[in-house]
Amino acid sequence: MPSSVAMINDQQALRHHYDVLIAGGGNAALCAAITASKAGASVLIVEAAPKALRGGNSRHTRNMRVAHDVGNGILTGPYPVAEYWDDLLRVTGGQTDEQLARLTLECSTELWDWHRQQGVRFQPSLSGTLSLGRTNAFFLGGGKALLNALYRTASSRGVRVVYEAKVVDLTITDGAFRSAMVLTNQAEHEITASSFVAAAGGFEASIEWLTEYWGQAANNFLIRGTPYNRGEVLRLLLNNQVQAVGDPKQCHAVAIDGRAPKFDGGIVTRLDCVPFGIVVNNHAERFYDEGEDFWPKRYAIWGRLVAMQPDQIAFALIDAASLNLFMPSVYPPEQSETIEGLAKKLSLDPVRLRKTVDTFNAACHPGRFDPAVHDTCRTEGITPPKSHWARPLTTPPFYGYPLRPGITFTYLGVKVDTHARIIMTDGNASPNMFAAGEIMAGNVLGKGYLAGIGMTIGSVFGRIAGREAARYARH
Ligand SMILES: Cc1cc2nc3c(=O)[nH]c(=O)nc-3n(C[C@H](O)[C@H](O)[C@H](O)COP(=O)(O)OP(=O)(O)OC[C@H]3O[C@@H](n4cnc5c(N)ncnc54)[C@H](O)[C@@H]3O)c2cc1C
Repeated sequence: MPSSVAMINDQQALRHHYDVLIAGGGNAALCAAITASKAGASVLIVEAAPKALRGGNSRHTRNMRVAHDVGNGILTGPYPVAEYWDDLLRVTGGQTDEQLARLTLECSTELWDWHRQQGVRFQPSLSGTLSLGRTNAFFLGGGKALLNALYRTASSRGVRVVYEAKVVDLTITDGAFRSAMVLTNQAEHEITASSFVAAAGGFEASIEWLTEYWGQAANNFLIRGTPYNRGEVLRLLLNNQVQAVGDPKQCHAVAIDGRAPKFDGGIVTRLDCVPFGIVVNNHAERFYDEGEDFWPKRYAIWGRLVAMQPDQIAFALIDAASLNLFMPSVYPPEQSETIEGLAKKLSLDPVRLRKTVDTFNAACHPGRFDPAVHDTCRTEGITPPKSHWARPLTTPPFYGYPLRPGITFTYLGVKVDTHARIIMTDGNASPNMFAAGEIMAGNVLGKGYLAGIGMTIGSVFGRIAGREAARYARH
């Protein structure tokens, strides 16, 4: 980037021709920008969010899953690529592009060093949540600190960032990028660049788009991350003969506190009490085995389960005996000395809830309660069963939390090859359009999720996209 460009204002910056234009301002975009600038390319990032909210869903993250052979001072090792591959196969049920997935896992071995070179710092995994000390590198200060480090490095290299700048149109001819229309401050600018990197996330923040697949139920979803991932760039690409990948209805969704904000609630709104009590819908009926497995292995199915319930709401109930067994909730629970009193506070039918609790309590088979193992406390003779940690709810006060589906990110994306090139519907790779991060994660994640792999996919493909976009532009 010529030093003269670094001194100009946003309006002037939008008039330049760049080697590489990047849509989005999260981890994938920054990995691409830094890599492209290191390869000698001039780079412009257009980020839809204002500076204070930059960084998309990456801002909410805590860790990244990386393969390594020996461990290091922070990661207790080893976590070989082969084991990572087995883990991925298990969660996706084989619905993954093997070539791209293996590339992701192999390149993940470089990320620890690469991110540290860009100023990102790591810390040991936090205890008491998920057991990830061997597999996941935790960012010191979380995703926000990671992004601050990446933005600092990018800007020191002359990467230009314009905030509150949204890509609203793309000109693509014969599979090649020509220009992007960018809306900023109520004015549209046509930006030309030699290469284009799409790193603008999924469409999880567009309730209208979610409604296409989920119907009116989508109005009751809460979006855990940024309100800026509305899928504009994804839609523009798919409307311009780009090949789609992934099931539009597949997404990562967890059950979160129903009182969380519509957007950007982040990780603190998660509730970990489910295995220790019962969960009922708004008919006061149980609908799934709350003790099927350890919570970290099951929490990602509960978003979908709640989404299938009437009005997309459920209620997790515990008694005083379980209150201190999980991470405290960010919002205090409703509480009452009686089940009927709790029912009223949660707007549930007291008679029905009493019946559900009595039936559950009577079905609890005496066993040795132990939250650390698959214990022997289970129900007998009821449907659905509770397979572990089933104890009668008898110790007042009784507590209740409303649950809603919390959408983390969607899986519908654009198809790419091993050079992060976007694949067109005729099967050819675009010469100068590349994609990284959530917008192409569906190539690797056909379904299911492995904690920390979102940041791995974004980092690996961000670096590849940056390298290839610069290579194309420079030649
Ligand atoms: C609460 C929460 C916790 C998570 N925790 C983890 C974790 O610990 N580890 C992990 O691996 N994954 C985690 N994830 C998933 C992870 O956030 C994503 O996989 C990852 O951040 C994707 O990076 P990205 O750069 O592709 O997208 P994002 O970081 O979402 O960036 C997309 C960017 O595109 C911008 N944008 C959107 N539309 C436009 C447009 N039209 N024009 C210009 N810019 C646009 C947005 O403003 C945003 O900056 C979490 C997600 C959430 C919501």
